[in-house]
Amino acid sequence: MKSTSRYEMIQQILTELKQPAYRFQQIAEAIFKQKIGEYDKMTILPKAIRSELIKNLGERVLSLTPVAQKTSRQVNKVLFSIEDGERIEAVQLRYERGWKSYCISSQCGCGYGCRFCATGTIGLKRNLTADEITDQLLYFHLKGQALDSVSFMGMGEALANPNIFNALTILTDPRTFGLGYRRITVSTIGILPGIDRLTKEFPQVNLTFSLHSPFDEQRSELMPINNRFPLQDVLNKLDQHIRDTGRKVYIAYILLRGENDSNEHAEAIAALLKQRGPWEHLYHVNLIPYNSTVVTPESYHQSDNDRVQKFVSILNSKGIKVTVRTQFGTDIDAACGQLYGS
Ligand code: SF4
Repeated sequence: MKSTSRYEMIQQILTELKQPAYRFQQIAEAIFKQKIGEYDKMTILPKAIRSELIKNLGERVLSLTPVAQKTSRQVNKVLFSIEDGERIEAVQLRYERGWKSYCISSQCGCGYGCRFCATGTIGLKRNLTADEITDQLLYFHLKGQALDSVSFMGMGEALANPNIFNALTILTDPRTFGLGYRRITVSTIGILPGIDRLTKEFPQVNLTFSLHSPFDEQRSELMPINNRFPLQDVLNKLDQHIRDTGRKVYIAYILLRGENDSNEHAEAIAALLKQRGPWEHLYHVNLIPYNSTVVTPESYHQSDNDRVQKFVSILNSKGIKVTVRTQFGTDIDAACGQLYGS
């Protein structure tokens, strides 16, 4: 069931109160331009409207409560409590030259059980609502922080939660967040119906597919979703996404020492991405150093630097575009696969 966002609720309230259309604009400007986080402080509105908003939506605009924060030089991780007392996390990454990027959660916990992932050990508690998703960004915005780019790579599988589509509508609405489509990245382990919907409804949003092994058997072991949506089917779907949108697709690959970082793995990735027809140049591999946490298996370790370099050189030699992601936030468990809500 689609969760109704506060912005839709506000529209409904204003309609019921027979208010002119500019009222919504005033509220949106109060939140997004003047950064007012409480309805009662929106003094541009008549008292009766403020009271009605408070009655229906509560005093505060934000649906999340920050309960803890960890900060290192470039990373700021915030733990929020949500309505039923559960916890979710969002991460702000600060790049040199001031660019601020965010990694937000789409579910509380996750039910897909990828072996290397801390979030997966919790199991799925529930999908986040569109407000809970977008409020992770609104929290930073209300504090005066710029929102330059956002990725759905926090807790949960974004394309397993239908509310992310409503969240994307809100994030790209010029009256509210007004984020450009290309500043948003959705990451998936390969949920085919979700990819279809993203292609149709948000063709300009960036798409990242988590591969992690080019071999079906090993991928199924690392990521049980591979039994339901096998690798070849996902790659065919990604081809279609590229054909329909003309956009790049990013392949995320966490390097696990001695598990998936051999020359054979690099060659097999190249082989997978090289037989894809005229759009094969639109695949781009992002290699991600593994981050261990206290809850992920002890047998997984980060690949040595030499191994990473060899892996890159094999991919390059086969004409595959590849980037090694810089690592941020490992000291505070804020890197990929580390969000645990603790
Ligand atoms: S990697 Fe993503 S899909 Fe897999 S268990 Fe973790 S959060 Fe879920």
